[in-house]
Amino acid sequence: MTVTFFADLRRFLPRGADGPQRYTLSGNATIADLLAVIGIKPDADVTAAVDGDLANRETALHDGADVMLLSPMEGGAAAEGEATTSTEGGAAAAGEATLSTEGGGDAMERFGYWNKILHVNLTDRSTRIEEPGDAFFRRYAGGRGLIAHYLLKYVPKGADPLGSDNILVIAPGVITGAPVPGAGRHSVGAKSPLTGGFGESESGGYWGAELKRAGWDAIVFHGVSPTPVYLWINEGQVELRDASHLWGKITGEVEELILAELGDKLIRIAQIGPAGENLVRYACIANELNEVAGRTGMGAVMGSKRLKAIAVRGKTPVKIADQRGLLAMAKWVSGTMDEKHRAFHEFGTGAAMQGKSLEGGMPVLNYRLGAADTIAKVDAIAVRDEVRVKMGACYACSVRCKKVVHIEEREEAARAAAENIYKGRAKVAFDPLGRYSVDPRYGGPEYESLAALGVNLGLDDLIAICKSNEMCNYLAMDTVSLGCTLAWAMECFEKGILTLEDTGGVPLRFHDADGVIKLVEMIAYRRGVGDLLAEGSQRAAQRLGRGSEAFLTTVKGMEMAMHDPRHMPVMRASYLLAPTGGDHMRQTSNRNGLRNQIGLCHFLAYEDDQSLQILKTVTGWDITPEEMVATAHRGLTLARLFNLREGMSRADDRLPARFSDPLPKHAGLTREQQDKIVTDYYVEQGWDANTGVPTAETIRALELEADAVHAR
Ligand code: SF4
Repeated sequence: MTVTFFADLRRFLPRGADGPQRYTLSGNATIADLLAVIGIKPDADVTAAVDGDLANRETALHDGADVMLLSPMEGGAAAEGEATTSTEGGAAAAGEATLSTEGGGDAMERFGYWNKILHVNLTDRSTRIEEPGDAFFRRYAGGRGLIAHYLLKYVPKGADPLGSDNILVIAPGVITGAPVPGAGRHSVGAKSPLTGGFGESESGGYWGAELKRAGWDAIVFHGVSPTPVYLWINEGQVELRDASHLWGKITGEVEELILAELGDKLIRIAQIGPAGENLVRYACIANELNEVAGRTGMGAVMGSKRLKAIAVRGKTPVKIADQRGLLAMAKWVSGTMDEKHRAFHEFGTGAAMQGKSLEGGMPVLNYRLGAADTIAKVDAIAVRDEVRVKMGACYACSVRCKKVVHIEEREEAARAAAENIYKGRAKVAFDPLGRYSVDPRYGGPEYESLAALGVNLGLDDLIAICKSNEMCNYLAMDTVSLGCTLAWAMECFEKGILTLEDTGGVPLRFHDADGVIKLVEMIAYRRGVGDLLAEGSQRAAQRLGRGSEAFLTTVKGMEMAMHDPRHMPVMRASYLLAPTGGDHMRQTSNRNGLRNQIGLCHFLAYEDDQSLQILKTVTGWDITPEEMVATAHRGLTLARLFNLREGMSRADDRLPARFSDPLPKHAGLTREQQDKIVTDYYVEQGWDANTGVPTAETIRALELEADAVHAR
């Protein structure tokens, strides 16, 4: 039996507990008895569900049943072997507080969003609240739509991505923070220091939901702070605080220091690491230490603003228009777990690597081979069997697909950790060579990292891959761009284009796991050849010359993710046309575009009508499928307008030369094939078939006339 409480219960959990708790009750226990056992006052403002059905204080619990207590704010991380039959998500707490709307707000009741956008000017340390109104949220919804709107409005044409004219936008969606699986996403956007165009990256975890629960729909940072600062958002209170003592520190240390300083362990923190401070062009923004807004260099933008972290504490549940309707969606996820999400729950991403290799579509040695004999040593199955201690989750998600690995350098330490931390429920791995330990606070490698830091560099050393993944999380760098930049450099080195003289005596060899670990740190701190590689592979190739461009795997300057478009036709349009460059999240499709904007995870197996249903039940909007498609279309068109304004053109909608070469099992992609995909997409989107410029008719139909003024 699973009881879910829709309230932030973290303060009631035993100290150090990081996930669902078991309580054994006997006799004719009710919900009221369970509240007493946990230590919650009987009249506390808490809504409960038993096995997915809304319950009241008198609802009976089965005699002697084990109760799995879940709170959406603490949704996952059960230890291995603690299989749950949990139903998470559902109705928000009854009687929840609402934030008052001032100024431009009207009297109507709002659900899902607050109509409050925080603007922070880091140069003069002023803040202001924008209340753009309901039509604004219905038009942009959040995520990409909202980011592109603000980039067009505030960033002058040709602005330096690392200069004071760039802005940094943090944009959850209108459903982020609703208690339903998948509603924990937020996006981060700015002009990208990697591509020079539309920069945007999504993250899961809890941080975005916490921001919504603090009463904010988005944050827009302007200017540059003269000294390092962090932003502290405590519900409606906002304060910029000195971060000089945090500058230079890795993410885990910063989290500990901020939590101690603010005296509340329930605060959620998004932050940059040393890589962002050092303006590594693919630095990321980490939240909860193990979730990242990884792509397009958003961490470098944050670093350029000397903004070290954003700490958030929210206690106000997001208001839901139709609680029962939303609960039905949450029940659908848990009720169809076996059929729809079991494999994902079991392994997360990366379970299909052996199949991908057999099909000849695995990126290996800088995308030159499609297969690796050693793939079974580094896939998600190996992760589960060798190094994983548990699975973690994002806000309100019962799928719990996030790997957590724990490795100790020595056998005795591993045995002690298994006993003391996991109470014998999980085995802790150790490095037989005594080289590396991996801290579970930094999560574990997803598919992209297993491939980019592993097989594409010729590595089959799972412990070293987990180590470099951990380092990327505590130094805060994107594993995909980092891995691809290293693969490019290794191929240059192999061919004698990049020599020991160029690298200061550091060899850049495929199959060298320990060498990769050293290079990860050199890049984050821009030491030696790390300074060149911190620029990303395209800029490094431009600087190096000597024909090294031939080995690039970038689109629009961003390194492609680990899905070979020669093997996967579905990826071709995504890589060619995603506004962010080599992005694999099918960011060209209206389906994924919508999920990005409203804040819904791409991994949940919702059909489009279910996504629409979630959007309706959260916001109360009477939205049609056509309007939903138009919302996604609007976001993609705005991002296109920004890229065109910044000088991109059809010539940038092209795969690098490497992908015209064949793989052993797949043909190369010709210029004609690519051109046809691009033209078809332009036409489908209502953009000019030759240039990809959105037509006046499309701008009008999407009601983007005001945004388009800023696109000139
Ligand atoms: S499916 Fe996985 S990534 Fe998506 S919300 Fe759930 S736990 Fe997070």
